[in-house]
Amino acid sequence: LTAAPRLPFDNSYARLPERFFAPFQPSAVSAPLLIELNEPLAQELGLDIEWLKSPDGLAMLAGNQFPEGAEPIAMAYAGHQFGQFSPQLGDGRATLLGEVVDAQGRRRDLQLKGSGPTSFSRRGDGRAAIGPVLREYIVSEAMAALGIPTTRALAAVSTGDPVYRETVMPGAVLTRVASSHIRVGTFQFFAARSDEEAVKLLADHAINRHYPDAKGAENPYRALLEAVIEAQASLVARWMGVGFIHGVMNTDNMAISGETIDYGPCAFLDAYDPAKVFSSIDQGGRYAYANQPGIAQWNLARLAEALLPLLHEDRDEGVKIAQSLIAGFREPFEKAYMAVLRAKFGLLTQENEDGDLMQGLLDRMMEGGADFTRTFRALTAAAGDPAADRGVRAEFIDPMLYETWVTEWRARLAREPEQDGVRVDVMRRANPALIPRNHRIEEAIKAAIEHADFTPFRRLNSVLSRPFDDQPEQSDLAIAPEPDQRVLRTFCGT
Ligand code: AMP
Ligand code: MG
Ligand code: MG
Repeated sequence: LTAAPRLPFDNSYARLPERFFAPFQPSAVSAPLLIELNEPLAQELGLDIEWLKSPDGLAMLAGNQFPEGAEPIAMAYAGHQFGQFSPQLGDGRATLLGEVVDAQGRRRDLQLKGSGPTSFSRRGDGRAAIGPVLREYIVSEAMAALGIPTTRALAAVSTGDPVYRETVMPGAVLTRVASSHIRVGTFQFFAARSDEEAVKLLADHAINRHYPDAKGAENPYRALLEAVIEAQASLVARWMGVGFIHGVMNTDNMAISGETIDYGPCAFLDAYDPAKVFSSIDQGGRYAYANQPGIAQWNLARLAEALLPLLHEDRDEGVKIAQSLIAGFREPFEKAYMAVLRAKFGLLTQENEDGDLMQGLLDRMMEGGADFTRTFRALTAAAGDPAADRGVRAEFIDPMLYETWVTEWRARLAREPEQDGVRVDVMRRANPALIPRNHRIEEAIKAAIEHADFTPFRRLNSVLSRPFDDQPEQSDLAIAPEPDQRVLRTFCGT
């Protein structure tokens, strides 16, 4: 006699025409167990926490059985993967359960990842291994705590069933929360079929959901494209600011909402290196750290192509508009990136030479093997106290690299009107003390797989929920990996 669950579903995507998705038939997993429920997020979404933990709630989070109001579907999408176009990808191992509107009136998707095969699975099994599920949980929640737009993790459930990868792994299901799962590739799916009516319906849906101001524009679709360009420019600038490498920026992994989506082979920089690549499948370095703005722009050009018929009734005019909007990506990106960098260096006013000054340290960090996160956190301390220079020097193989740069930075800080205290506050919020280090994520996954021990996983989540606080008792998690601890390669989460 349990009360009706508070899952206020309102499924606007499922109300779009049938060709936007395929219905989902559950294929039950054997022995679902709740690994983790993100209670603060459940609360924010207005979900019934007690129900989520009940057998019926667990059955939903495992994809076994769905409550009233859920309309599980697999979304259709296409995408450029490493530059190659696939006209049909779609949710091959994910299910959109539906949408809920939270207390603030924000509409969010609830999606299961690893919930079993769909009509888009092709040769895949529709499942997820526990490693990638824990990894996405840790990193997406860490990104949220860093203040970076991202999908969220509501729950992780183990299935009791094996999945077969290079080795046999325990299976798991992640419940992902997103503003929506509309991707650049969703537009491409319909554009590739010359289904202009669907492109328009999808654009109207995206405008209503994410960019309602565009409705008032002379051409709402141009305004939509502009807004997505703006959102992606700002997103990638923020990634750069924390040393995040997405790793698989295919057009099907770029959300129209401007949230980070699809945590596969993503990783954070340890030592600063603009050419850094972790992903085992990124042979050419297409998605290297410093290539991310250029790739974002390339992906947005694919979105512009898909929207072309809506940009202008005359095709040539439409192309001109698209080209000028896409060329315009640089401006908001540079603006956002410079704002991110300025905060990292504590420069609250602007001078002409600032770009060179900041690049000067980055070049030296590269040469000196300096850890990206630790160097900027140490610089934050040094901004308030020159005695703390010691800490920054220690990050460089050759401390002279810092020594010969810092004088110029101090002279520059002396021309800032703000008090040191204000500057240090800004820098503390731009320079996290703690990030999800690759070797720590691997450790947490290993403990879960080999000993069913989720303590390291929980500890990481808890510490990373306050990334800007010094947590002296957790200082082991702030240490850069020793050479033998360094993760050299990451793998697509399948
Ligand atoms: P991703 O690399 O995660 O962006 O996925 C690319 C495409 O492959 C998407 O259409 C996924 O749904 C599909 N896919 C990935 N893994 C699986 C799997 N295990 N089973 C079925 N489809 C999958
Ligand atoms: Mg994907
Ligand atoms: Mg993926």
